[in-house]
Amino acid sequence: MLNIVLFGPPGAGKGTQSNLLIDKYNLVHLSTGDILRSEITEGTKLGLQAKAIMDRGDLVSDDIVIGMISSKLDNNHNAKGFIFDGFPRTSAQAKALDLLLEKKGTSISAMLSLKVEDSELIKRLLERGKNSGREDDKNENIIANRIKEYNNKTAPLKKFYANQKKLSEINGHGSIKNISHNLNTVIDSL
Ligand code: AMP
Repeated sequence: MLNIVLFGPPGAGKGTQSNLLIDKYNLVHLSTGDILRSEITEGTKLGLQAKAIMDRGDLVSDDIVIGMISSKLDNNHNAKGFIFDGFPRTSAQAKALDLLLEKKGTSISAMLSLKVEDSELIKRLLERGKNSGREDDKNENIIANRIKEYNNKTAPLKKFYANQKKLSEINGHGSIKNISHNLNTVIDSL
């Protein structure tokens, strides 16, 4: 199986690049942000709980997102592999993911980390906020909180995957096509 953690701060282009990768490599896209937003749209109890947290730009609890990923893995028995987008975001999530994959007799193939300057992230997210309908993209204070959460709790995961010799950093500035080409080059070399 090909299991990729597509990593990077909010606004790095993970969603855009995931959509290109799932087509090219025939993978299942697992975005915890997308799954949470669909829970909100469906008006589930979990969605209601998560909405207030997401609107502030804080992280939803580990138990909730790990449970979501666990059931998605179970529901996709025949997948050729997965792209994890926006997950893991904490070290508890990264450890849980390793265990879940181990139970399935597989593991993470690589973490591809998109590197983008904060000023560019803020610009991209505010631009997206004009059309996305996402509350957390509209307000610069909330965007700053999301970047802070990333720096404090999520960025340290690069070390977790570097220790497993699985980390590749990719420049997230430039054209979508160019970034996609660079991601493909790393994946093809695995
Ligand atoms: P995203 O779409 O990845 O930018 O996620 C939007 C929001 O959903 C985040 O700011 C968090 O509130 C929540 N969220 C998404 N994925 C996770 C995760 N793996 N752990 C905790 N919270 C998450």
